[in-house]
Order: sequence, then structure tokens, then C-alpha cells
Amino acid sequence: MTDLPHRDLEHPLNSSKYHTGKRCVEEGCDKPAGTHWSPFWCAEHNAERLDRITNTLETELKRLEEALSQPRKENTQ
Ligand SMILES: [Zn+2]
Repeated sequence: MTDLPHRDLEHPLNSSKYHTGKRCVEEGCDKPAGTHWSPFWCAEHNAERLDRITNTLETELKRLEEALSQPRKENTQ
């Protein structure tokens, strides 16, 4: 088990209970679509997608925090 349920393919939130009967929308993937998070992706591709979103948000948040923590200054760029 991991503390990140979307990455745990055996997690109940990734179980067949959420399968829609359709295939994953990722090109070339024929795994069953449907997880707690989205009806469109299989569990593996859903995890990739969520991680990508999380990384993007964390990068943006860090950039924002850095910008806010710095005193105002002339833009020299
Ligand atoms: Zn897939």
C-alpha cells in the first residue's frame, strides 16, 4: 500500500466497481476505463495523469511562493 491511493492499482478506489465498460481513452491502451477519479482513464493512466497535474501545480505553487516571499524590486529582466 502507498499513501497515494491513485498510484495503488489494488486500491478500492481503483477497483472494477468504477469501470465504465469502456476502454481507456489513452491511445493504444485497451485497459478498462474508470476509477474513482475519472471515468475516462484506466487506473495506470489515471495515476500518470494525476501525477502530471500534481507536479504542475506544485511547480506553479513554488514559483508563486518564491515570488510572494521576495521583497518588491525593479524588474531587471
Ligand atoms: Zn490506459
